[in-house]
Amino acid sequence: MSAVCGKERAWAAINLNHLEENVRQLQKILPKECRLMPAVKADAYGHGARLIARELWNRGIRDFCVASVDEAVELRECGITGQILILGYTPPCQFEELWQYGLTQTVIDSAYAKELGAWGKELTVHVCVDTGMHRIGERSDHREAVYEIWKNDNLSITGVFSHLCASDGMTKEEREYTKRQIQDFDDMVQKLHRRGITGFWTHLQGSYGVLNYPGLSYDYARVGIALYGVLSSRRDWTIADIRLKPVMSLGARLVCIKMLHAGESAGYGLAFTASGEMRIGVVSIGYADGIPRDLSNRGHALVNGCRVPVIGRICMDQLMIDVSEVKKASAGDEVIFIGRSGDEEIRAEELAGDAGTITNEILSGIGRRVKRKTI
Ligand SMILES: *Cc1c(COP(=O)(O)O)cnc(C)c1O
Repeated sequence: MSAVCGKERAWAAINLNHLEENVRQLQKILPKECRLMPAVKADAYGHGARLIARELWNRGIRDFCVASVDEAVELRECGITGQILILGYTPPCQFEELWQYGLTQTVIDSAYAKELGAWGKELTVHVCVDTGMHRIGERSDHREAVYEIWKNDNLSITGVFSHLCASDGMTKEEREYTKRQIQDFDDMVQKLHRRGITGFWTHLQGSYGVLNYPGLSYDYARVGIALYGVLSSRRDWTIADIRLKPVMSLGARLVCIKMLHAGESAGYGLAFTASGEMRIGVVSIGYADGIPRDLSNRGHALVNGCRVPVIGRICMDQLMIDVSEVKKASAGDEVIFIGRSGDEEIRAEELAGDAGTITNEILSGIGRRVKRKTI
């Protein structure tokens, strides 16, 4: 257990009020009967799964989804007694844990359903139907194979779901593809009902499914990134006009300041060379903490309300910034990579864009050394 001294080397501040507001905003655009099933996989997208799940639990949310048994067990251990759906593959050696902890497993395809059904004790599952993403799920055009899943002994099937793969897109092609997926899913559910197969919940939308197709009415919506108050990319806009508030800010510490003379270089590989006299600051965060190395000579940070460039290559534990223009920068000052400082703000979408990726990857990649603290 590390000491909290208010001078952490690197921290992620988690704003629980913003989380609560995002929950409310998302619930507002969803039909009343649709409940949130927050995606708290990957340590709640880097925000801290225990912290986020407990907070959501206290706000009345009872259903969660994760990627693995280990993530689900972590939730059970912090008092989450509701439904926990594992969205991915669980190896047979962990079926015992599914049973023991009362977890809900995704049926990946009909062969996997047989494996689950043959295990011995009754397991609770949701059936994933592939409506066009072609990742997991039994293909929706393999109708008989889908129906067969219900013939397995020892499976308690409490849900049927699918996943949209282009709901963030606004091109005609993407909108049409998504509408076909929705139609395909609805057909599947209707056909199951007509065969007398009932008693299961349905869910289809992730964040963009909710934000861009808000009228859809299923039992759950598996929201992840939107709950954390950001979009995947700064280029994105959405049909539902809601103001999400970023839950995480990310900061580190200025550890020393030094002068660089014209022609001198800084950092690994001589990747940055001073063109004149300048002041640089060394910051206590690096790529092992989740600052992408792609931000070398390219990223930005905020110091005392000023926006400054990252210079040189980002190291594993440290990086350097140009503080020539910051009048009163001194060792110990905060350096913000995501969040506000004075009137300036760097959004996760901007950082991700500069690094050539999406916020989902940035947030879930925030390292274990980064201290999570709540505000
Ligand atoms: C991760 C995941 C989600 C949540 O996605 P967001 O875009 O972050 O809302 C929903 N469904 C499935 C199957 C997922 O893997």
